[in-house]
Amino acid sequence: NQSKVSNFIAQIIEDDLKAGKHTKIVTRFPPEPNGYLHIGHAMSISVNFGLAERFGGVCNLRFDDTNPSKEEQEYVDSIQEDVKWLGFSWDGEVRYASDYFDQFYAWAQHLVREGKAYVCDLSAEEASEYRGWAKEPGKNSPYRDRSVEESLDLLERMKNGEFDEGAKVLRAKIDMASPNMSMRDPIMYRIRKQSHHQTGDKWCIYPNYDFAHGQEDAIEGITHSICTLEFANNRELYDWFLDNLPVPNRPHQYEFGRLNLNYTVTSKRKLKQLVDDKVVSGWDDPRMPTISGLRRRGFTAQSLRNFCFGLPVSKSDGVVDIAQLEFAVRDDLNHNAPRAMAVLNPLKVVITDYPEGEVEWLKAPAHPEQDLGERSLPFSREIYIDQADFKEEYSKKFKKKLTPGKRIRLRNAYVIEADGFEKNEADEVVQVNARLIPNTVGTDPEDGVNPKGVVHWVSASHGKQATIRIYDRLFSHEAPDRGEEDFLSHVNPESLKIIEGCWVEPDLVSAAPEQCFQFEREGYFVADRYDHNSEAPVFNKTIGLRDTWAN
Ligand code: ATP
Ligand code: MG
Ligand code: MG
Repeated sequence: NQSKVSNFIAQIIEDDLKAGKHTKIVTRFPPEPNGYLHIGHAMSISVNFGLAERFGGVCNLRFDDTNPSKEEQEYVDSIQEDVKWLGFSWDGEVRYASDYFDQFYAWAQHLVREGKAYVCDLSAEEASEYRGWAKEPGKNSPYRDRSVEESLDLLERMKNGEFDEGAKVLRAKIDMASPNMSMRDPIMYRIRKQSHHQTGDKWCIYPNYDFAHGQEDAIEGITHSICTLEFANNRELYDWFLDNLPVPNRPHQYEFGRLNLNYTVTSKRKLKQLVDDKVVSGWDDPRMPTISGLRRRGFTAQSLRNFCFGLPVSKSDGVVDIAQLEFAVRDDLNHNAPRAMAVLNPLKVVITDYPEGEVEWLKAPAHPEQDLGERSLPFSREIYIDQADFKEEYSKKFKKKLTPGKRIRLRNAYVIEADGFEKNEADEVVQVNARLIPNTVGTDPEDGVNPKGVVHWVSASHGKQATIRIYDRLFSHEAPDRGEEDFLSHVNPESLKIIEGCWVEPDLVSAAPEQCFQFEREGYFVADRYDHNSEAPVFNKTIGLRDTWAN
């Protein structure tokens, strides 16, 4: 599907190639390793890798690791795993902005020597006062006219750890009256006495995003540096650094609108809060909009790619209906997931005229359209159906259910007729007694009394017990983080329901972790990536058969 990628950036690339500006395009996906990737990142990945693929170029995976305080190796690892799982391959080795720290430092010295950068001693508060407001020019820092020698010496001493955090910064000398705030002598380096996951304790000064990103792109020969709209104001500064440094290449920045989804949040900071506050079980909780969460929920990589490639790449931020994401997975699983039967709320049915101990192995296709082979379904005297498929009394409303004196078809098997039921002390039906209508596998009853409904079932003597986790949307509010209230107040209290003691057809216990199924009449389910095994099967509900939120 990436071959069809068509959007305004694709147009720019096409024009650049036609004009001979580039012979090969190079893009990059540049996550900061300060959290797990979410669905918004999947969009950025699709755009960057998709454009590279479409135009026969390459895409780099580069960790934008310039701020050690929130970054961790765990995130570096999970990000690589997620990109690979989505089905994309980056060019060569993984890259790190921190690989270029020596080069950045040399370039910082270069700007100081050229009189285009200086060490500034203003405190953060003072600096922000000097910076002024959008409509009011700022004032020059009293340190702005420091000599080149003095700034070079102070910068070296900052690097050597002689000053405390916050005592000094290196700033570019641009224009304190610029209408673009990011051009008012922006910070290039700040002191952070922190170990870095890649460079250890080698550095105690770290470059700011703006003094790193364009240079990273230039070093890697990126032709089209694609980011989201919030960086539009930074483009002028991105270009200023490239104009004023002896960089080997000249990349260009293009911005597109972030992907936002309703009923969820796509901000690593907020997702981390859900993890830290234990609202969810981890970054990969199946309710999380992270790639690893969606994966564990049963979303396939193909469904996420289909979703992202189906979205417009626009010049403004928009909100996409989460039903569109759900549609993508439902559609993919409908076409590809094998069928199986699972009874979530079991009710025993005893077929009283069927011999005890006898078993008949019936055949059923694994998929109605695709050739996914056949499965064997053991049929026996005792079976389970869902409680919801039996009613004590017949009424028109229940004509598709099993009721005394009426018939039902057991999916892929016989027609049966109920003739009584038993109750416990709590007045609950605990057993239905029925009789078999002979010769009805795949054909209608000979007496012409056809059943109105079809129900799923599992043999009580061959089926296996499983735990099934039913998930719903994590937030019950359409825009959980766009209102007055704290987004955590909109967490849906019903977002997880765990059902123990479900009965599943025997083959399902040998399902591989992450294998997806349609449980007939119930929805799409996946064997849990971590918790499922043949001794204790665990399935997660991915999505229902239909959109139940739609009205
Ligand atoms: P967050 O706000 O969640 O921390 P971020 O933009 O800070 O996101 P990065 O790790 O810097 O996260 O993102 C890597 C790339 O993914 C960037 O180019 C960024 O623009 C892009 N990206 C992040 N979120 C989205 C989104 N919702 N839609 C499209 N692209 C996104
Ligand atoms: Mg970022
Ligand atoms: Mg961020």
